[in-house]
Amino acid sequence: MSQAKIEALLFDLDNTLADREGAFKRLCREFWQAEPTINSSVVFNDAYLKLCEWDADGRTFPKRDIFDLARQEWGELIRTPDEMERWYESVYPSMFRPDVRVTRFLQRVEQVGIPWGIVSNGPAFQSQVIRQIGLQRAAPRSVISAEFGSAKPAQVIFEEGLRRIGFESAPGRCLFVGDSPIADVEGARSAGMQTGWIIRGRSWPADLTRPDYTLGHVSDLAEVLGI
Ligand SMILES: [Mg+2]
Repeated sequence: MSQAKIEALLFDLDNTLADREGAFKRLCREFWQAEPTINSSVVFNDAYLKLCEWDADGRTFPKRDIFDLARQEWGELIRTPDEMERWYESVYPSMFRPDVRVTRFLQRVEQVGIPWGIVSNGPAFQSQVIRQIGLQRAAPRSVISAEFGSAKPAQVIFEEGLRRIGFESAPGRCLFVGDSPIADVEGARSAGMQTGWIIRGRSWPADLTRPDYTLGHVSDLAEVLGI
């Protein structure tokens, strides 16, 4: 079945527009370097794999739970889990780097006049991440779950995203792109939008309806859009 023309775009932030994997790895390295109990007992890569497991791709909240697990695994840390949580919040956004492919793609989207915005699950510091990766101009078109009071896959947060880009009455002409099968793809479909999924080396869950588009990187959309 051919899809309706795509006239607007909404994006997930983490691991869609922003390289959260890379940012988390930088944060883990700083943590490992600062804690002698850990760096004297395991090499960075082993510590990193454990931290990734406990982080559950960013879904673990509060973040102090990760540092509680680190203490249980490796022993007493220099900082308490509360201090670690405050450290995490203060340095996390600074660990992100702009992705030139994302930057160029969004410039092209703007040149051809396609409205776009962001719908992100997470705490208020997501807006600092948006600034850090050079997309602060999208702030008025960015919905952050902690500020909005509802998180993906709830339909209402997608509707707010659509409203911010003026497509609340035409969700079927808007494409939502994200890396989470449930929060992003299922959620956006329930809000009536077309869907795109960022693969990140995984396979699509067999029990879920497939997305309209499967993408290696968000900039692959340039070909889909013909821009
Ligand atoms: Mg994501």
